[in-house]
Amino acid sequence: MSGFTEPAKKHLGQNFLHDHGVIAKIVQAVNPQPGDAIVEIGPGQGALTFPLLKKHGGLTAIEFDRDLHAPLQAAAREHGMLRLIEGDVLGVDFTALAAELAPADGQIRLVGNLPYNLSSPILFHALDHAASIRDMHFMLQKEVVERMAAGPGSKVYGRLSVMLQAYCAVTPLFIVPPGAFRPAPKVDSAVVRMVPKPADKIEVADHRSFANVVRAAFGQRRKTLRNALNGVADSPQIEAAGLRPDARAEQVEVAGFVRLANLLAGPPTVG
Ligand code: SAM
Repeated sequence: MSGFTEPAKKHLGQNFLHDHGVIAKIVQAVNPQPGDAIVEIGPGQGALTFPLLKKHGGLTAIEFDRDLHAPLQAAAREHGMLRLIEGDVLGVDFTALAAELAPADGQIRLVGNLPYNLSSPILFHALDHAASIRDMHFMLQKEVVERMAAGPGSKVYGRLSVMLQAYCAVTPLFIVPPGAFRPAPKVDSAVVRMVPKPADKIEVADHRSFANVVRAAFGQRRKTLRNALNGVADSPQIEAAGLRPDARAEQVEVAGFVRLANLLAGPPTVG
C-alpha cells in the first residue's frame, strides 16, 4: 500500500502524474546515462522519481512538502538510492550542487514536473546557474512552453522567450492532456527540453545589461523601442545596434537584444 496519505496541496502546485505512457515518454526523453548526475525538482509522490531510479540507480531530488519526505524515502528504497534535499528549490545553489554531485564535469541534469505557480522563478533560477546544467527536461503549462519557444512576430514572444533562448536551445517535445494528472489541471501541459549553450556560444557580454534591456523592452510591449527603452537606450544607440527605434520589442530577434545590451554595456573591462 502507498504511504502517501495526504491530499494534493493546491498551493504547492501538486498535480501528480499517473499516466504511465507519459511517464515512460519523459524517462525516454531524459535518457539517463551512466555517470549522469540527475536532479529532480518536486518529486511529489515519486511518479517520475521511481522510474528514473529504476533506470539510473540513483538521483537527488528537491521537495518542499515535508509531509512527502518520509513516504518518498521509504518507497524509493526498493528502486534505488534517493538523496532528498528537503526545502525550496529556489534556495538551492545548483552550481554548488553540481560541483558536489558531478566533480568530473561540474554539470547536473535537471528534471521535473514543475509546480506551475513557480514555473518562471524556477526557469530564471536555473538560468542563473546555466553553466552548471547540462540539460533540463520540464513539464510545464503548454502555454508557458509556447512562450519559451516563440520567435519574433509571434503574439507570445516575450521576455521569457528572449531570456531563455539567449542562453539555451529550447525544444518543445510533446503535449500532455489534463487527464494524465491527479488532480487534473485546467489546462494542457507540455514537456520541454532546454540545453544551455556552451560558454563560447553565448553572445551576451553582460547578463545584467541584457536582462535590463529585455525587461524594459517588453515592459511596454505595444510601445516602440524608442519609447519603451526611454532611460535605458536612446535612438542613436538603438540604431547603432542595427535596430529600428520605431520597431516594437515583439519584432526584434534575440540577437538584436544581445547586440543592444552589449553596446550599452561597453567594451569588456580587463582584469
Ligand atoms: N513529480 C511529481 C509528479 O510528477 O507527480 C510531482 C509534481 S507536482 C506538479 C510539483 C511538485 O513540486 C510537488 O511535489 C510540490 O510539493 C513540489 N514543490 C512545490 N513547490 C516547491 C518548491 N518551492 N521547491 C521544491 N518543490 C516544490
